[in-house]
Amino acid sequence: MRGIAAVAAAAAVGCGVFSGAGVPPSVDAADTVAHGSGRKPLPRPYEMRVAPQTVHPGDIFTLTWEVSAGADTGEVELDGRRFPIIRDQGVYTSVVGLDMDATPGPTQLAFRIGQFTGSRDIVATAREFGSESLTVKPSYTDLAKETLERVELESVRMKKLWATITLEKLWREAFLKPTSGALGSPFGLRRIFNGEPRDPHSGLDIKSPPGTPIKASNRGRAVLAGNLFFTGNTVVIDHGLGLYTLYAHLSRIDAEEGAMVERGDVVGLVGATGRVTGPHLHWGVKLAGTRVDPTTLPGLNLAR
Ligand SMILES: [Zn+2]
Repeated sequence: MRGIAAVAAAAAVGCGVFSGAGVPPSVDAADTVAHGSGRKPLPRPYEMRVAPQTVHPGDIFTLTWEVSAGADTGEVELDGRRFPIIRDQGVYTSVVGLDMDATPGPTQLAFRIGQFTGSRDIVATAREFGSESLTVKPSYTDLAKETLERVELESVRMKKLWATITLEKLWREAFLKPTSGALGSPFGLRRIFNGEPRDPHSGLDIKSPPGTPIKASNRGRAVLAGNLFFTGNTVVIDHGLGLYTLYAHLSRIDAEEGAMVERGDVVGLVGATGRVTGPHLHWGVKLAGTRVDPTTLPGLNLAR
């Protein structure tokens, strides 16, 4: 039997913790492989070109395994979330995210590919996200009864969407930043709206002038193209394997719900719809339900 070569490639932008090529794996002694009904230590050498010895809440990273496992798919489990593993050009690969609210400290990453299972500890290092206070129309904080019902329905719809994992990689090449423009509120800010704490900022704001075309960050299916209470005119693209990008506050939607979009296609125009203090693009990324930092996405080597 051939050894599993696990390669953890990482989000480089705004993070830097994955840059150490050749760093030895942190806890490879704990790695095991199930063979038949028994479990035994993973055979050496256990090659890791880049080790995720530390990751931060909100990070995206990829895992690849070179092994003949006789299966088409597998699964990674991390912090209570499941991420698919697919075989892509002869290599097993998975894109994994740690939610912005993940508890700092050691956490176990477990995987299963065909007859192989294994695990290792990764250490989540705390990240300071900061906070901001914003003033918006009172109708966005003191919600009317019918608005509450609408918000509730939209929340259920979004949760269902994030829980849907398409077992096919639909993206091609690297992910694009959807518009140019100065960065506004960063990912992860703790937020106070009109004096009251609300959900943290789960995306990245790009301050482009109203009417600026917004490009699909990558190929995928437009699974939502419509108006939501908080995010206004919104487009969500399913890129497959649990990876979604969201574009919010659009003045105009140019994508058709259910249709495929190509990388770079215009999906709408920058606007100020929904709960905003001014025109901008809110760009969000979800990965198997985890809220992850969009700034890391274009730098990822996901285009095998
Ligand atoms: Zn935003």
